[in-house]
Amino acid sequence: MKNKLVSEILSLKNEKDAVILAHSYQPPEIQDIADHVGDSLQLSRTAASTESEVIVFCGVKFMAETAHILSPDKTVLLPEPDAGCPLADCIEVPALLSMQELYPDALTVLYVNSPADVKAESYACCTSANALEVIENAPSDEIIFAPDRNLGTFVSRKSDKTIHIWNGACRSHAVADLPDMKCRMEEWPDAELLVHPETPPEAWELAHAVLGTGGMIKHVGESSAKRFIIGTEEGMVYRLRTLYPGREFIAGGNIYCYNMKMITLQKILDSLRKLEPVIELDPRIRERAYAAVARMTEITG
Ligand code: SF4
Repeated sequence: MKNKLVSEILSLKNEKDAVILAHSYQPPEIQDIADHVGDSLQLSRTAASTESEVIVFCGVKFMAETAHILSPDKTVLLPEPDAGCPLADCIEVPALLSMQELYPDALTVLYVNSPADVKAESYACCTSANALEVIENAPSDEIIFAPDRNLGTFVSRKSDKTIHIWNGACRSHAVADLPDMKCRMEEWPDAELLVHPETPPEAWELAHAVLGTGGMIKHVGESSAKRFIIGTEEGMVYRLRTLYPGREFIAGGNIYCYNMKMITLQKILDSLRKLEPVIELDPRIRERAYAAVARMTEITG
């Protein structure tokens, strides 16, 4: 059944001139059929540079929106339209505007894990990897950082700027199971623990390194360690095992994102057959959100 689904997807993908992009948190069978696996911004940039007219985005809504922001002339499909992101959903435009009124001299730096209409109200977007660089280069000593409080706290400890942090969190990472991380460290005392900055500060204190998904991939490539405990969404363990078959990885912290697991092979097939659900945005919002994403690129290259 699974093989039949996969071969139907691959043949329809060619017929429709589509490319399949999968986030590193997607289930193994989705990562296996994807043309590209990566983090949200890498994938959006891949979407923009591909020749294909149709992008099947296997991730959550804000990611597919970002792909559409960067590639407005392409058809961006999100095979499960209800795959949202609780972190992105914890910020809305009126509340951000109120915070901006409270701190009129501050520039808003917004994590890409946010809705398009909120991006449209911000100065610049950032990723977990470049948040500090974007903040340091923003032309103000006062910053509003949203929506993830843990990432905001992580970068604020490295910056001398005044940073007003939005009190939002990723429901999967913010409740990382620290006793589980400690158990894995006892089981594998020679392993490095890598945790995501969306986890709470107590996890950073246990970890050998605090990194986004792209940073984890790079870190493993450069490390002499043979074993790693991965303190981010468990799909990342499969991604790392695929990239580094000579190393060993286990998940630490029981971090699981239900939304990331909503896309299935059957939904991808249905989406390719019908060429829907299509991600669409009001062009005015898209253009203003594009400016915030473009400013990040101007700053970080
Ligand atoms: S892991 Fe967290 S930030 Fe990522 S999609 Fe899931 S809820 Fe959103």
